[in-house]
Amino acid sequence: MASGFEEKVAAVIVAAGRGSRAGAADVPKQYRPVGGETMLRRTLAAFAGAPGIAWLQTVIHADDAALYRAAAEGFDLLPPVSGGATRQASVLAGLEALAAHAPDIVLIHDAARPFASAALIARAIDAARTSGAAIPALAVTDTIKRVAAGGQVGETLDRGQLRAVQTPQAFAYQPLIAAHRKAAREGRADFTDDAALAEWAGLAVATFDGESGNIKITNPEDFMRAEAMQMTQLGDVRIGSGIDVHAFAPGDHVIIGGVRIPHTQALTGHSDADVGLHALTDAVLGALADGDIGAHFPPSDPQWRGASSDRFLKFAVDRVAARGGRIAHLDLTIVCEAPKIGPHRDALRASIARIAGLDIGRVAVKATTSERLGFTGRGEGIAAYATATIRLPWGEI
Ligand code: MG
Repeated sequence: MASGFEEKVAAVIVAAGRGSRAGAADVPKQYRPVGGETMLRRTLAAFAGAPGIAWLQTVIHADDAALYRAAAEGFDLLPPVSGGATRQASVLAGLEALAAHAPDIVLIHDAARPFASAALIARAIDAARTSGAAIPALAVTDTIKRVAAGGQVGETLDRGQLRAVQTPQAFAYQPLIAAHRKAAREGRADFTDDAALAEWAGLAVATFDGESGNIKITNPEDFMRAEAMQMTQLGDVRIGSGIDVHAFAPGDHVIIGGVRIPHTQALTGHSDADVGLHALTDAVLGALADGDIGAHFPPSDPQWRGASSDRFLKFAVDRVAARGGRIAHLDLTIVCEAPKIGPHRDALRASIARIAGLDIGRVAVKATTSERLGFTGRGEGIAAYATATIRLPWGEI
């Protein structure tokens, strides 16, 4: 930079709301899934992955600590702080928590906008550098009218002067926290966004280009729209298959799909010989066209001897996530005369779903004998066949 001075940028993610308008009162909306991940996790991912942000401060409701831990797992974040009675009070709590770090610039963002792009976040930082206070704005395409309480149209507003305003809103940190503290001292708690508060405090607020995809998820219809956006984006559907076989040896249980099933024999082989998880791992790698389990975890490598096979499936699942994709469905068929798999079907589904980070409704387990034919029919071992359906972003090779 020309000044030779690198501004330190922080972001406050406001996630303390109760979100009653989104329906489903059991979980606040920011912890409901959008495209397979909670809304807050998506929002955190957008900011954690954006260049130039030194500190990420989340403001949560005190009752949501456990939900937050799951949403924030794996991200490098400051410890969350509890919000206040209003959005404004929650933002102030986040700003106060950042005081020890003294950032130069702070972005304030609502957790309910999970689709903010890296380009939008970069524009916000640039605009704060230039203007000291700036907000993303979009031209309004609908005609907007002022309507009286009785439903009577009062006037038609000049659309050319109107803008729909989003977050992240970006500010020089010190003037913004000073304005927030002043508003709190003077009992003003009714500002619906930080720009309104900044305007009240006498700061000049500029605008920069918002993003039509940066929608605020408020109503159940917004969730449906967000899901549709995800499906459109993840439209490159791929299917992979995997097969595995392990032989019986002396023992008293087998492990299939991560579940211990008592039996008169055990399965022998590399790692824990989890024939189900091995077939599923190859199915996921197959859908990615990304080698096979033996290529990633060579049997010659002693570190995998006796290893719990959940790590193999988790590895493949992480490869899907790393390419911006998600798993739509896993389907596993176990072929053996014994033990009986049927009684354990739902335990296997739950176990596989947990390992893969999926809803159990996206995991199928089926079992069959081979009518006493072949090696499975003779009780020499167990075979597993798996299919994985994954969705990748368009533009992938
Ligand atoms: Mg195997």
